[in-house]
Order: sequence, then C-alpha cells, then structure tokens
Amino acid sequence: PDMSLSDMLKQSVSKFQNNTAIHFYGKETTYKELNNLVDAFTAALQDKGIKKGDRAAIMLPNCPQYVISYYGILQAGGIVTQLNPMLVGKELEYILNDSGAETIVIYEPLLPVLNQVMDNTFVKHVIKVNIEGRDATDDMATGFQSFLKSANKRPVEVDINPREDVAVLQYTGGTTGRSKGVMLTHRNLLANIMQSYEFFKDTINIGKERYLSVIPLFHVYGMTSCMNLTIYIGAINILLPRFDLEEVLETIKNIQPTSFPGVPTMYIALINHPKVNEYGLNSMEICNSGSAPMPVEILRSFEERTGAKIVEGYGLSEASPTTHCNPLFATRKPGSVGIGVPSTDYKIVDLATGNKELPAGEVGEIIIKGPQVMKGYWNMPDETDLTLRDGWLYTGDIAYMDEDGYLYIVDRKKDLIIASGYNVYPRDVEEVLYEHPSIQEAVVVGVPDPYRGETVKAVIVLKDGSNCTKEELISYCRANLSAYKVPRIIEFRKELPKTGVGKILRRKLKEESSQ
Ligand code: ATP
Repeated sequence: PDMSLSDMLKQSVSKFQNNTAIHFYGKETTYKELNNLVDAFTAALQDKGIKKGDRAAIMLPNCPQYVISYYGILQAGGIVTQLNPMLVGKELEYILNDSGAETIVIYEPLLPVLNQVMDNTFVKHVIKVNIEGRDATDDMATGFQSFLKSANKRPVEVDINPREDVAVLQYTGGTTGRSKGVMLTHRNLLANIMQSYEFFKDTINIGKERYLSVIPLFHVYGMTSCMNLTIYIGAINILLPRFDLEEVLETIKNIQPTSFPGVPTMYIALINHPKVNEYGLNSMEICNSGSAPMPVEILRSFEERTGAKIVEGYGLSEASPTTHCNPLFATRKPGSVGIGVPSTDYKIVDLATGNKELPAGEVGEIIIKGPQVMKGYWNMPDETDLTLRDGWLYTGDIAYMDEDGYLYIVDRKKDLIIASGYNVYPRDVEEVLYEHPSIQEAVVVGVPDPYRGETVKAVIVLKDGSNCTKEELISYCRANLSAYKVPRIIEFRKELPKTGVGKILRRKLKEESSQ
C-alpha cells in the first residue's frame, strides 16, 4: 500500500494502543506513549523550522530516543540521515556535509567528536540524548526531554508522497571506497517491511512477538528488522545499546525474546560462551542472520548446541535491505541465502558486461528488481546510473542459483583475490578454516605479491586455550583446499576489527596487510 512510515506507525498505534512497544532496561513504553512522544518531537522540530525534505541526522546507540527521533523526523517530512556513532573526524564531516543536515540528535558523550567538525558543517540544532538514566523521560538535564516539551502543541500535518519522497539516507559502510548516501523512499522501506512480514507471516504472532534488538538501528538491517518491522507487527522491541555477551545472554534468559536478528560474528561469540546451553536460547523461534556470510559450520554447531534455529537472509542497503531469505518451515538450505522475498525478481548475469543472463549453477553477478530497490544515490548521478540499470539493481555480489532458485552468495566482486591468475573467493577458504576446531574467527584477504599479483592471507583468532601453530593450519589447508587457495601467510590476532553492525572489516585488514 501507498502509505508513509508515519502512517504505518499511526496504524499500529490504533491497533496496539496499550501494548508495550519498547522495552529498555526494564522501562516500558506503550504504543500510545510512543506516539505521543513522536508527536511532541515532530512539533518541536517544526518549531525550529524544519520543512519537508530537510535532512536531520541521528547519531545514537539503540535506545527509545532513537525510535522517537526517527519517526518524529519522518512525520515532519524530514529525511533521516543515519550516522554510525563510531564515526569521527573527516568521515563524520563528509556525511554531515553531503547530506546537508542542519539538525542532529546525538548521544551526549559524542559531543566532543561533533564539536571538532561542527564549524565545517551546516549543523545548527543539536539535540542531546543521555541514556545513562536509561529512561527517555528523565534526561531533562541534557536536553531531549526539554526539547520534547519545547513546542507544546500538535504537529502540523505534512503531505508525503510515499513513492517519491525520500525517508532515509542510509550511508554505505564505505568498506569499498567513498561512502554513498542510499536514498530510500517511504515506499521502499514499507515494501521491505511487508515483504519480510509476508515471508514469515505463518510464524508471526501479531501483537505478541518479542524482538531482541541488539544490531544497531543506524544500520539498514537493524532499522528494518528491529525497528520498522516490530512496529508493523505490534511487537515488543527489546533494545540493547551494545553487544555485550553476558548482557545478551541474561536478557534472553530473563525476557525470552521470540526473535533475535543478528550477524554471524554475534552467533560465533554466543556459541563460544562456555555456558551457552544454560540460557534457554531455544525460546527463540527465529534467529535471523544476515549482512555477511554465515559459515555453515557455525550454523550447524549453533543449532546443535542451543536448539535455536538460524535462518539466513541476504540484502544490502540499496534494497532496504532484504531481498532473499531461507523459509523457516519449507526447505532451508544451509550455505544458501534462500529464495527471493515476495515481489522480488532476481537473476544472475555475466560478470564482465552484466547483460547476459546465466543458467542455474553458473557464477555471475546477482541483480535485483523490486519495490524495495532504492531511488538512487544522493548527489551521485553517475554512481546511480552504474548501479541501477533498466530498473535492475547491480549488487556487486558474486553468486549462483540452484535449480530451485535458491541463491548462493559466493563473494563480493571487490573481495575477489586473483592469485597467479586464479580466482580465489575468500569465502571458500574461510568455510574450510571455520571447520578447524581451534579457530574462532577467520578472514581471508588478498595481499600484493610481486610474483603472483596477489597472494592469499588468513587472519585468525584462535579459541581460548588453543596452541595451534601456523604450520599446522597451513598443512590442514593443504589437505582440504586446492593448492592455489591455500593461505601462504597466516597472522594470529586476539580480535578482528569490526564495523558497527559487527561485520569483519576486510578493507582494514587488507590495508594493514599491504603496508
Ligand atoms: P559497503 O557496500 O560500502 O561495503 P556495507 O558493507 O555497509 O558497505 P551493506 O549494505 O551493509 O554495505 O552490506 C551489503 C552487503 O553485505 C551485500 O552486498 C553482501 O556483500 C553482504 N551480505 C549481506 N548479507 C549476506 C549474506 N547472507 N551472505 C553473504 N554476504 C552478505
């Protein structure tokens, strides 16, 4: 349906009124209360002069104020600019300037970071949020609450065209060059909520679900699966501001969420916890995994140990994000990201030109068409033309399909390693490494090599207490991989650098390895 996200919120408020919408460290906010807070936020923004199409940034960890600001900005007709709270210096300055945001809602401890660049940006209004009191209503001292009270009137209604009007600028992680502002319209985002809902509707208990939301809301995956979808289905959104292993396990034990959208590194951390079995993870019907490949070995051992099911999906910022998912009750194929969500067309095309469709089993680029596909990149018409061709989104991901239409992501085009002329997909090597009993995390990158062009390097975190050597790992790889795929260099680390959502930062490891 053609509806704005604010209309979607209103619809849920009228259906779920006194149900809990948000749970934050024991404090509950009902749908009705959430709606009142959103209205107050919109009115206050309008008082400051925000107009339709103006950009307003949010730089917060997961907290109730996130949801309030997000929907408050949208209701005012504004465009939410999502900021990773870990951004600093030039990166932050770049996104603020590129978006042209004049308003920012910011976690108070990050103010010094903002202050360093603020003079070089358009920012005029700073709304500070403090979550240490863990209550959206008691941070008067720092401004969010006084901002909410500042207008003291009803918001003015703004006419929104869901198909045309941009709701969110979702900046890509920039793991592959300059960060781009993905323009997602109200319709794009609503379409993806409905697609996810339609896909899982047999398992969704309207008004009764409890989502554990620890993946960040500033990331497209958290935004859609943990904030927008929960509102649409009248769920309780249990927000946690950071991934703290003990806290996640305690929350699962005490509140028994029914759903836990996560990323592979989170599931890896969970199964390596010595007492994971004692926390009742099987209360969760679905652990959705997305945003990075889920090693098959991890999926198996997670399910064996916890009794909970992992359902892997695939998506990207440019598609709001979900395009594929494994069905929960029909055939679930480990290693595959499943089939297209409703109203999503997809095909595999040749890597070189992108014009020729390839048959099942052949590896090429996956391209996608559907109502969730972005409007384009903000201020980047050339990039938009390269990525959106005839309405097809060129994902930059290498994949193949099986006879049943199940999609297998092989790797990202840009992560491909070319060693002595052979194509090495890091994922192939990582899958084998994850089967080794001593390995906790593994990532494979290409590093420059004068003879081979590139050579394969593995950066590895060993499990606690393991004394496995590099030589042992190399001979293990020799026994399990074709010679050209075997890592020539192995580096051990205590931990791996990760992005805000918990993806392993390949680019950083590659850069560090190439110096
Ligand atoms: P950038 O594009 O700049 O690197 P990013 O990593 O933040 O930024 P996202 O939109 O968050 O971009 O990530 C989308 C990408 O994540 C996909 O294109 C794909 O490569 C990868 N991805 C997502 N889900 C899966 C999955 N289940 N298996 C393998 N890869 C996945």
